[in-house]
Amino acid sequence: MTSNSSLSTRDQLVNWHPYTQMQTAPPPIGIVRGEGAVLYAEDGKEYIDAVSSWWVNIHGHAHPHIAERVSQQLRTLEHVIFAGFTHAPAVELSERLLRLLPANQTRVFYTDNGSTAVEVALKMALQYWYNQGIQKTKIIAFEGSYHGDTFGAMSVSERSVFTRPFQQYLFDVEFLPVPVPGQEAATLVKLKQILAQNDIAAFVFEPLVLGTAGMVMYSPEVLDQLLQLCQEHHVITIADEVMTGFGRTGKRFACDYLTRQPDLMCFSKGLTGGTMALGVTTCSQQVYDIFLSDDKTKALFHGHSYTANPVACAAGLASLDLVEAASFQQNLDRISAAHTAYAESLTGKPGIKACRQTGTILAIEFEVGETSYFNCLRDQLYALGLENGVLLRPLGNIIYVLSPYCITQEQLTRVYETIDQMRLLV
Ligand code: PLP
Repeated sequence: MTSNSSLSTRDQLVNWHPYTQMQTAPPPIGIVRGEGAVLYAEDGKEYIDAVSSWWVNIHGHAHPHIAERVSQQLRTLEHVIFAGFTHAPAVELSERLLRLLPANQTRVFYTDNGSTAVEVALKMALQYWYNQGIQKTKIIAFEGSYHGDTFGAMSVSERSVFTRPFQQYLFDVEFLPVPVPGQEAATLVKLKQILAQNDIAAFVFEPLVLGTAGMVMYSPEVLDQLLQLCQEHHVITIADEVMTGFGRTGKRFACDYLTRQPDLMCFSKGLTGGTMALGVTTCSQQVYDIFLSDDKTKALFHGHSYTANPVACAAGLASLDLVEAASFQQNLDRISAAHTAYAESLTGKPGIKACRQTGTILAIEFEVGETSYFNCLRDQLYALGLENGVLLRPLGNIIYVLSPYCITQEQLTRVYETIDQMRLLV
């Protein structure tokens, strides 16, 4: 193998890819460049990134403003230990982030990705009770949820083929049905039953949209009711905004639709505009105060070598510049309106089981008989997208659009046309 061989060929000899059966997966596509919503492949093909490269890229690829800020930071201070030391990017990013979040959020804890942001939130919630000598050790999570791949995050996620080999190491969780339209009352009843046990420490949830479950959506009104019940029972509430954060739901944060405020919040993905690996867990003063003590063992014993990496924080600051620009909300509104119009055009068409939308997130569930589903429909849909130069990653028989906000109307039209073709495959 020489360095003249394609990236794709060389990759197959050395790399192990996530969520990939390496024996049967097609060769990976070598990408050499990205700009706006488009990825450029080594063979000259172009792909519209309609999934924002696993939901992270919100402003478009290789955004010059973020690139400039990151390269400046690299030349100033690339990293410093975050225990006993601090630096301007972390201080400024926390200050600015807290100004945008619900008013009760007062502290920021840095991690490296979404899973560890959730892991930290779970530890904070459990230790909040432990520090007070109160026996509250159980967590509530939604059925079908996905909070990440570390052990705590896996424990509070749907038990599936993803988690099966590790089942015996996952802690017990009370799973709550998602209050999808028509099921709200059942969820409320079940939550009341669970809360009757006195050992519930926390409720962790994806607000308004459960991403990996298939973009399953529920209303802010029912979430407010769930939060109210939890708060009345002194249960810590954890909003996992790893996917929904930074505009996805049509507002800056999904929690902006709520009247109640969660105790803890988790962010990653869009936090740096999809450029650097960074996560944060934020918390209320009430939670933070319980970790303050003359007793050193009441501290939060968690950290990573790259905690609050200055370059990643600088990327976060540059991304926030773009999030706070007027064009940000205009783009969210433009994409939301385009999705609504497209979803309406699908009404009554054969092959469509359901269309769901929350802001810039559009999900289309195809009607499939068992036969076509087990004929690897998902793989066929994925391949058809790539053939058309559109990167869409179906979740089973559900196709969803979660694009960078700079996607043009013309590019959106190509995405929709590709979905139309997919419908004919079903
Ligand atoms: N939480 C939610 C809601 C997610 O959608 C994801 C990833 O898709 C995670 C947590 C895990 O984030 P990461 O992949 O950065 O570990």
